[in-house]
Amino acid sequence: MLKDSKLDRRNFFKELLKKGDIIKGKAEINTDRCLCYQKTFCQLCYNRCRNNAIKIIEGLYPKVDKSKCQGCGQCESNCVKKPSAIKVYTF
Ligand code: SF4
Ligand code: SF4
Repeated sequence: MLKDSKLDRRNFFKELLKKGDIIKGKAEINTDRCLCYQKTFCQLCYNRCRNNAIKIIEGLYPKVDKSKCQGCGQCESNCVKKPSAIKVYTF
């Protein structure tokens, strides 16, 4: 019985992870480092975000919509700036 309930829990969390329902954190842009805020076109993070959580303001400036951000880290790992100008901050 105990074994079964452990398995159920494991499957439950596996399913959540598959669905992306566990939010690990939220992304934030450091506007002092992001190329767009220095008037250089980039938007790589915008193109990499699969959750449509990065909006482009005034045709140039990326901004994170925190209500949609899942904390996946794709923006952070693909940012052209090293270290990244966009980072996921965990809760
Ligand atoms: S952490 Fe993921 S969901 Fe959030 S803005 Fe970056 S790419 Fe999009
Ligand atoms: S990838 Fe990095 S530098 Fe480019 S727009 Fe996004 S945060 Fe700015």
